[in-house]
Order: sequence, then C-alpha cells, then structure tokens
Amino acid sequence: MKLPRNPTRAVRIGSITIGDGNPIAVQSMCATHTQDIDATVSQVNDLAAAGADVIRIAVDNRKDADALAKIREQTSATLSADLQENYRMAAPVAPHVDKIRYNPGHLYHHERSKPWQDKVRFIVDAAGENDCALRVGVNCGSVDPAKIGKYAAGDSIAPMLESALEHCELLDKLGFTRYCVSLKDSDPAKVVEANKRFAEERPDVPLHLGVTEAGLPPDGVIKTRIAFEQLLSRGIGDTIRVSLTLPNARKSEEIREGRQILADIAAGRVRSVVHYNPDSLNIISCPSCSRVENEAFIELAREVKEMTRYAADHALTIAVMGCRVNGPGETDDADLGLWCGPKHVNLKRRSESLGAYRYDEILPRLKQELDALIARKTGVR
Ligand code: SF4
Repeated sequence: MKLPRNPTRAVRIGSITIGDGNPIAVQSMCATHTQDIDATVSQVNDLAAAGADVIRIAVDNRKDADALAKIREQTSATLSADLQENYRMAAPVAPHVDKIRYNPGHLYHHERSKPWQDKVRFIVDAAGENDCALRVGVNCGSVDPAKIGKYAAGDSIAPMLESALEHCELLDKLGFTRYCVSLKDSDPAKVVEANKRFAEERPDVPLHLGVTEAGLPPDGVIKTRIAFEQLLSRGIGDTIRVSLTLPNARKSEEIREGRQILADIAAGRVRSVVHYNPDSLNIISCPSCSRVENEAFIELAREVKEMTRYAADHALTIAVMGCRVNGPGETDDADLGLWCGPKHVNLKRRSESLGAYRYDEILPRLKQELDALIARKTGVR
C-alpha cells in the first residue's frame, strides 16, 4: 500500500532529504554524555548500524560543542545538534552537524531582555553559513511562557501551535525555508491533534513526529504507534522518532521499532494494534539523554512500572524523568511525578513537591502516595 503524503517542501539534512514525498526518515538521539566522546561515538555507530537516518546529540555548553566537533571527526553519520537552553551554541556546533534543533520555549532562559526574534536570527545565520537544516521543536513540557497565558488552562495545544506557527512565519520572513517542525506531547491523542491542526495551517512544512516521554517498551511503542498510525495514514509526517526509556546498550531499538511501525502502517497492519486504554494507569518516562546524572533512573523507571502493576485499572498518570533541568516542569501535569538528580529522586503530586528521597527509598514512598490517591478516588481507605 502506498501511503498518502502531504505536499511538503523538500528539506535536505546532510545526505538525506525529508519532505516532498521522500522516504520517511527515522531518527534517534544519543543518551550518552556528549563530553564522553568514546561512548557517544559508539552510540552514534550503533544507531547508524541499526539504520538511523539522523542522529541527534544534545549540546548545552562550550565543552559539549567541543566534544561534538571531535565526535564529528569519527563518524560520517548524519548528525543533528539539540540546542538546549543556550541558543549561542548554534555558532560553534553548526560547522559540525547537518541540522540544528531549537526549542522556542527555551529561548527565554539566557539573555532574557533580548527579543526571541534576534535569537532565532542568530541561529538562522549559523545554520545558513554552515549548510544546516533547522527543526523548530515545540514540546508540551516547555512551551513559550508568553503563549501559555493566552489560552484556557486546560488547552495545551493552542499555545504549542501558536508558537510553532509564529516561528515558521519568522523563518519564512528571514528567507530560511530549510526547516521542519515538531509538536510533541506525552499524550498520543494530543500529538495527533496538534499535528493535524498544524498540517491544516501549514501543509507545506515537513513534520517530525514523536510522542515525547513515551516510556518503556512495549507500552511506549504502543503509545507512539497509535499517534503515528493516525497521522501517517493521513499523509502527515516526514520523519519520525520513537522515544523510549532504554539503557544505552539498547538505544538502537528506537530505530528498529520506528522502522517496524512504518512497515506495518504501509502494509495496512493498523488494526492489529493493541488497544491503548486511556482510562488505565499511564506511566510516562523520558527517553533519557546526556543530561541524566544517575543511570539508576532507567532501572527506576522499570521498577516503577513493576511496582505499580496493582494499580493498572486506575486512570492516573505517573511521570518518571531523568534530570533536574526538564524533570521539574515536565512532571507538573502528572498525578505523581519523579525527577531524578545525582543522588536523590524528587517526588511530586502534580506541581506540589513532596520531598527528595534516596534511590533505595523512593519506591515505598511512591506506593504510599499512590495508595492515598487511589483511596481518595475510590473512597476506599
Ligand atoms: S527529562 Fe532530562 S534526561 Fe530526560 S530526556 Fe528530557 S532533558 Fe533528557
């Protein structure tokens, strides 16, 4: 079966091109510490061997940027740099990568008085001078704060859309059209809605699809599959990433799962999908990246899933995040959230902090809170 494809424009990323009917590219991201050059090169090679079309590496600071230059020397893979909060890192990384991803919601962290438009111009100049494509990567957990206040508290999609569309408009005005957009959420239904609405407004802009913090396999794959089926079968999506919480040695499963999902959708195997029940316990966990400070986070995510099996029939969300940078914000909407620091795990009930616990203390404490929430919901004590 030939999938329909939206008439998006072609965007070249190194030796591959997305959009304009080109094959849907499959991406992943290194979860190693960028400054650990050997480990990162090894993960890039693993991902490339598994068939990754583009491999993203996080860059937070000058040392990361220097490490990326050395990583570039050791691989011919198509690389993308993920600018985290420091937009100025676009300049040192652009000569070494084929694409730069920036998050509009992160342009506020440095040089707060400088207009975001000037920061985008800086990134565009670095990309343009170094033959790089761009991705405007909008993420539910870090939306531009100026947009959030304009919409009703429960409407998380409109601020994401407005942010993405406004950045597209500026990039077009600057004459830089070699970009794609992503609108990610941990809820597959929101990913579908946001991307459908964006594609209606801007059918010409290639879309990078992903369900962020989808969690551990197999659940994370199921959540992602549900969103991708709905979108790709409508012609929406030019490149994909399956974000899974996996130890570094298994990271390439993201690529294999992505390719399998594409093959299944193309073959019409979309009705064989396991039913995703949004009325049951939902565990979200981040895919991990170079910001993880304690790898015990991966094992903890697995243990949380095991320990909470008894609560499978309760419509609650538990979020397990790997770092102190995005973890605090991205756990705000979960009924119970854990974000992991180097020595402690921070426990939250929605945006309320419940304290920090050692890795060997957190599970019983989480259970206590989960039991209390269930008791409150069911009235059984
Ligand atoms: S929550 Fe932190 S560790 Fe996890 S993917 Fe996001 S930035 Fe990386």
